[in-house]
Amino acid sequence: MTDIIDGDAVAAELRSDLRASIETLADAGVRPGLATVLMSDDPASETYVSMKQRDCEEVGIEGIHVEIDPDAPAEELYDTVADLNADPEVHGVLVQMPVPDHVDDREVVRAVDPQKDVDGFHPENVGRLVAGNPRFKPCTPHGVQKLLDAADVETEGADVTILGRSDIVGKPLANLLVQKTDLGNATVTLCHSRTEDLPAKTRDADVVVAAAGVPEMIDGSMLAEGAVVVDVGINRVEADTDKGYELVGDVEFDSAEEKASAITPVPGGVGPMTRAMLLYNTVAAASRQTGVDVELP
Ligand code: NAD
Repeated sequence: MTDIIDGDAVAAELRSDLRASIETLADAGVRPGLATVLMSDDPASETYVSMKQRDCEEVGIEGIHVEIDPDAPAEELYDTVADLNADPEVHGVLVQMPVPDHVDDREVVRAVDPQKDVDGFHPENVGRLVAGNPRFKPCTPHGVQKLLDAADVETEGADVTILGRSDIVGKPLANLLVQKTDLGNATVTLCHSRTEDLPAKTRDADVVVAAAGVPEMIDGSMLAEGAVVVDVGINRVEADTDKGYELVGDVEFDSAEEKASAITPVPGGVGPMTRAMLLYNTVAAASRQTGVDVELP
């Protein structure tokens, strides 16, 4: 029997544990605050931001949302971020990517106060993560770690093949999994678009994490018998549905499920964990900035 790893259920449990931490903060007069900044009229970005705000409301985090005209000068975004950095009621600041072409996204990442960088993308926080002393773990890789833990997948000594070397998923996940920690100690192979003989690398792995953004590129023939499969991919493909599309992962689920010992579905796998880990980082940020100790799940 293949274990279908239920990201919705794991995320719900995490949110419920976080509520206890938020109550501890409330008892000390602190309400965690997360500011989201949107400088885009892309419907997908609008949806992501509104989901993040809804998640905050549900667990008792104060959500602050700022919208900036996508045609406004870059300075307007920097000024907004500076104001939020200086606001003691705001513990986390997140600028929804992508920003318009006339804004340098690396500058935006550097503008966020590293103490409030709940995405974990600021170079200071990336450096800390690589050095094995993370302040904020980026949400998707942290969510993948938590999912593996919840499914009792032992990473210590495991061969893990990751597809995708992005700064938000592949690279930080590789760095987390090689650390000498309970959820690390793995041997990681980080694959990308120039990797040769990818099937050999995936077939060799105890755990395959697919984060390439290529619909259903991993199928059962590329997996070892009993492998654990984590599908990070979220891809819109044309389909005969009301919306005209459906969401699929980077893994061809049916054939992969036949080979895997455990697998995450899309939707309902990594996606809900990413959202939950943002709440986690906001609570951690509030605790650190106010000196009120909380237990984090
Ligand atoms: P990205 O486009 O920044 O990076 C994709 C990476 O995959 C690149 O490093 C590229 O080298 C590699 N790649 C592309 N084609 C490949 C191939 N044929 N073989 C091997 N490697 C290949 O993407 P990203 O932002 O890291 O996102 C990856 C996927 O994960 C997307 O589908 C995205 O929507 C999804 N995503 C999901 C969540 C979530 O919460 N579930 C979060 C972030 C991203």
